[in-house]
Amino acid sequence: MKALVKARPEEGLWMQNVPVPEPGPNDVLIKIKKTAICGTDVHIWKWDEFSAKTVPVPMVVGHEFVGEIVDMGAAARTYRIGQRVSGEGHIVCGTCRNCRAGRGHLCRNTKGVGVNRPGAFAEYLCIPESNVVPIPEDIPDEIAAIFDPLGNAVHTALSFDLVGEDVLVTGAGPIGIMGALVAQKVGARKVVITDINPYRLDLARRMGVQHVVDVGNETLRDVMDEIGMTEGFDVGLEMSGAAPAMQQMIARMNNGGKLALLGIAPTEFPVDWNTVIFKMLQIKGIYGREMYETWYKMIALVQSGLDVSGLITHRIHIDAFEQGFAAMISGNSGKVVMDWEG
Ligand code: NAD
Ligand code: ZN
Repeated sequence: MKALVKARPEEGLWMQNVPVPEPGPNDVLIKIKKTAICGTDVHIWKWDEFSAKTVPVPMVVGHEFVGEIVDMGAAARTYRIGQRVSGEGHIVCGTCRNCRAGRGHLCRNTKGVGVNRPGAFAEYLCIPESNVVPIPEDIPDEIAAIFDPLGNAVHTALSFDLVGEDVLVTGAGPIGIMGALVAQKVGARKVVITDINPYRLDLARRMGVQHVVDVGNETLRDVMDEIGMTEGFDVGLEMSGAAPAMQQMIARMNNGGKLALLGIAPTEFPVDWNTVIFKMLQIKGIYGREMYETWYKMIALVQSGLDVSGLITHRIHIDAFEQGFAAMISGNSGKVVMDWEG
């Protein structure tokens, strides 16, 4: 089968012919319809420090997907051939304390599809049946293909009660904008998103985020005054991984504020811990999606009108994958969806 492979420990990805994976007794084989490019795939493309340390070569990459079940192992009985599915890209051990307590997202032994084991940028993907998420008929393929990052946003945004709260989202990448839209949908009072990239700021405006702030050109404090925020933010969703954004968030929180951190910083950076202490802030780190509560909530949000389709800025055929990666690397894109059919 055709697959996008990290074939050599250097920049790039290569389309190669590799064997179709064989499902084990508890696995399903999925024929891929559409995939989307994640920031992680871009790191693997560039072969930065994180990738070189984490990804064994050769590796079929990719983990944002939708497809159709075409085969399954003898013990896999929950789904049927022909069913349209996406799936959780974190494969957990099932035997550690958190797994046995039903907290799979906190597994100590998580393996990433397309990172530690063969991924979804291929004609066929093999994953455990327990990782499969069936897609309701009213949800389009391209939306199901971006459920992984939407799940990151939903997990982060729903970490704290947002009803009537003032919410700051730092970073208007696809996940930040999704997080802001979720906050608005579930009843936040004011939602403010920040970025420094004009393309991303414009995308946030077009997607209908309430208040979009270019922190390269205006101060967050001034905007808070303009929109009638006399105190600070109640909830912060850190979606940039940028040190100045995190530092600004801590400075602009109200006492007792709650922070959910998703953005991954490239290097360590200083934090004003005394402000965290005197403001009595709560901080929660977020990795992936809750299994499988986030998936249920995300599907319900989409079915009740959460529309993230405008975040898909590039729709290409997989044969044009180099264009897709170039768009992601430029920063002038939302989600890039790659079609494996036709
Ligand atoms: P992205 O890189 O597309 O978006 C990040 C945005 O932050 C960019 O638009 C960038 O311009 C902006 N930014 C940079 N400096 C800023 C500043 N000072 N203030 C405000 N914004 C600033 O990333 P994404 O795909 O939307 O993902 C969001 C973050 O979440 C990334 O850091 C990514 O690595 C991370 N991530 C974490 C998980 C997890 O499980 N924890 C999963 C997926 C992604
Ligand atoms: Zn485990």
